[in-house]
Amino acid sequence: MQKPTTLSASQLLLSYAYEETWYRGEEYADKKLARLQKYDTKSVQAKVSGTKSYEVLLRFAGSSVSRECSCPYVGGDVCKHMVAVAIIWDEKRGLSRPTHEMVAGETITPPFISMTQITSAYKNPLTCDLEIVRMSASERAAESRAHLRLPLRPPFLNDSEKAVSLSETKRAFREISRWTMREGYDQYYCGGEVVAAFCEVLRSVLRREKSSQPKIIADVLIEAQNFHETLLNDLVDVRDGIEIFGSAHMNELYQLLDREIKKMNSADQIYVEKQLAVFDDRADLI
Ligand SMILES: [Zn+2]
Repeated sequence: MQKPTTLSASQLLLSYAYEETWYRGEEYADKKLARLQKYDTKSVQAKVSGTKSYEVLLRFAGSSVSRECSCPYVGGDVCKHMVAVAIIWDEKRGLSRPTHEMVAGETITPPFISMTQITSAYKNPLTCDLEIVRMSASERAAESRAHLRLPLRPPFLNDSEKAVSLSETKRAFREISRWTMREGYDQYYCGGEVVAAFCEVLRSVLRREKSSQPKIIADVLIEAQNFHETLLNDLVDVRDGIEIFGSAHMNELYQLLDREIKKMNSADQIYVEKQLAVFDDRADLI
C-alpha cells in the first residue's frame, strides 16, 4: 500500500479558478458526472460527461497540480471538469472539499468588465455603455493604482424638452476640469471617467437638440471641440485611444446639424455653416 498523501488537489486548484466555475465543478461532482478511470496518490485520469465527454488529467507537480482537459474552455486556467475530478479524487483519498468560506476567499475575483466588452465599446463608441469607458483603464492595466473615483456626470439637464444653453455647457465643462485638479487624480486611471462624463454631457445635448436653437447647438459643438482638445492635450492619458469616444459624440452632433441645415432660416443657415466650417478646420489641425 502506498502511503496516502495529504496534498489536496482541490485546494491547490482553488486559487486558479473563478468562483462560478468552482461551483459548476462541485455540481458535476455531486451529479457523479466525473468518473475516475485510473488514479493513485500522484495523478488521476478521468472522464467527465456533461453535454459532451471530456478527458481530464491531473498530476501533483511539486506543490502545485499540473492539469489538462480536452474541453475548449478558455475562461481561465481551471475548468469545471478539472474541479469535479479534483473533488472526487480528493474524496477517494479521504480529503473533504474546500469549504464555502475557502471558495469565496481564495478563488479568482472575476473582472467587472471583460476585454470583449471593452472591444465592443470601442467599436460602438456612440451607443456603448459609458461605464465600460470609465473602467477600461483599470481592466487593461497589469496592475491598478489607487485612484480617485469621479462623479458620473457634471450637473447638466437631460430633459429632451429643455433647450440647451451655452453657459450651462461651459459650466459643465469647467466642472469636469475641476475634477482633474483633485488630489489623487490620475490621467490614466481617471481618464476614462473624464471622457465618459464629457460624453454624458454630449448625449444630453443630442437628446435636447430638437428643443434648442440651432445657433446655440453650433456654439456648443465648438465649445465641446475646444474642451475636448484641452482634455486630450493636458488632462487625459490617451494611450488606449480613448479619444474616439468624445470624437464620435461630437461627430454625431455635427451630422445632426448638417442634416438639418436645409430646414433652418437663412440667418441660422449662414451661422451654422460658418461654425461647422470652423469645426472642420480645427478637426483637421488636431
Ligand atoms: Zn474542461
